[in-house]
Amino acid sequence: MSCGFADADAEELELFWRSSVRKIRGREHICKICQYVSDGWKMRRHLRQSHMAGGVHTCQVCSKTYKTEYSLSNHMGLKHKNPIAF
Ligand SMILES: [Zn+2]
Ligand SMILES: [Zn+2]
Repeated sequence: MSCGFADADAEELELFWRSSVRKIRGREHICKICQYVSDGWKMRRHLRQSHMAGGVHTCQVCSKTYKTEYSLSNHMGLKHKNPIAF
């Protein structure tokens, strides 16, 4: 099941999923950002369409771009331990 997504996209979605979605019961998941409740597949689409679409977050340090704020702050924590120092 790896068709349809570019790799970077899938990786970012995966990270975003782990930080933003909580499983309630069965196939039901809740989006922690907007409290939207849906089953897994619809939730993936919801994340992409509602929280990843069009948004570009640029790293002030190395100019790498991310679709979500979470991905960017994750990158910051990993690559630039002290973003505020800039
Ligand atoms: Zn949401
Ligand atoms: Zn950076």
